[in-house]
Amino acid sequence: MTDPDKLHEECGVFGAWFPPGEESASQAVYYGLVALQHRGQESAGIAGNRGPEAGQFALHRGMGLVTEVFSDAALREIRGNIAVGHTRYSTAGGSSLENAQPLTGHTKRGPLALAHNGNLVNVEILQELLEEAGSVFRTDSDSELILNLIARSAVKKGLTEAVWDAMQAVQGAYAFLVMSSDSLVGARDRNGIRPLCLGRLGDAYILASESCAIDAVEGEFIRDIEPGEIVVIDEKGLESIHITERTKTQTCSFEHIYFARPDSRIDGIDVYRMRKKSGKILARQAPAEVDYVAAVPDSGIPAAIGYSEESGTPYGEAMIKNRYVGRSFIQPSDEARRQTLQVKLNPIRATIKGKKIVLVDDSIVRGHTMKKIVDRLREAGAREIHVRIASPPVAYPCYFGIDTPYREELISSEREVELVREHIGADSLAFLTIPGLTEALDGRDDFCTGCFSGVYPMAAPKGQMKETARGASRGV
Ligand code: SF4
Repeated sequence: MTDPDKLHEECGVFGAWFPPGEESASQAVYYGLVALQHRGQESAGIAGNRGPEAGQFALHRGMGLVTEVFSDAALREIRGNIAVGHTRYSTAGGSSLENAQPLTGHTKRGPLALAHNGNLVNVEILQELLEEAGSVFRTDSDSELILNLIARSAVKKGLTEAVWDAMQAVQGAYAFLVMSSDSLVGARDRNGIRPLCLGRLGDAYILASESCAIDAVEGEFIRDIEPGEIVVIDEKGLESIHITERTKTQTCSFEHIYFARPDSRIDGIDVYRMRKKSGKILARQAPAEVDYVAAVPDSGIPAAIGYSEESGTPYGEAMIKNRYVGRSFIQPSDEARRQTLQVKLNPIRATIKGKKIVLVDDSIVRGHTMKKIVDRLREAGAREIHVRIASPPVAYPCYFGIDTPYREELISSEREVELVREHIGADSLAFLTIPGLTEALDGRDDFCTGCFSGVYPMAAPKGQMKETARGASRGV
């Protein structure tokens, strides 16, 4: 279920290259996409390099969850030894089959397919240049622009150089996969903002947004793709090319805080371990005398366990999450949101009545959900509720592929912590500090913290600084 009070990832990508002769790369991609479902539930698609006619790709895309989009029969039709797949999250209004991926295109050298996660910041200028040169765009997505750039130079220069050229032209946060008839190419932006990793499955290679998807197909994680790196996989093996030496890693810290699955490992840090550590640091930064520590399930669980361990306060459950609630789109009315939450999270009266509780969650974005949770815990008889958030206040929008609300909708954008506490109705409220977040990320400073600090790895898209990141979600 899409929580309207969380930041949302935009996409997951998964590609597989098997030695020629193999026909079912799409099977591996299917299971990989199921494991990446948390990154996007709007649409899904897979392209295979052997279509109904010679020189064509097979492609199946649809709206909905991966398991809803693909029947056995649909999957069997996507043949070939190479396949790329995509799961997409989109903002309201951008949800249509036309924008579903992979996107495909044709060049004189044959077909191409692209699966892309992220957001470009120089779209306007590139689109203008391409349109002046005669390109026609079918969608309003950054992904089509990247495919167009690659297709234009692939004819003359070959795919690898075409990807290299496209990466010199585009600026922003991205990880993408390109499939040709005989190769699979993966690329990560020069700051490595969006994740991409490499795995092996026997003689096959895998490229995926997260390592949990490599585990899902019983593959072996090899390494993360480096910032500014292109990997080309074909019959000759795997080749790695760096587009520039001037890279500065700035992986999105929200991947570790919330987006990624806790069983993933991104850029050398286990996501679960990081979340638990952030709870431990929070316990030291903001202790509280309570009967037990509880999590907002599931997002707050690892940090709550860390808080409990560090403080020596027992861990307990205050709410049960209904895991059978289906996918729901962001509901526009407050009443619809209230009912969604009512069905999704229910307080356990027996563990709450008369108790003082520390309640841990990973983040607060708008504050609506947390306010309702606190109200419901009070109704269920909680004596004191002390909210602890395992990330700093989200005070700025994201311009790099994460769906953030308008700045004025971010509860922490212009309110001090005390005012946020008053709004949500807790007895106390504390956030992890930015240095605390850095400590949880093993003391490394190679992570983007833009939505907390307002300091971004690169300039925001032209004209959007005063507007909203919602406008920036035109990609994917
Ligand atoms: S601004 Fe926030 S959500 Fe966006 S890339 Fe940076 S850390 Fe991630």
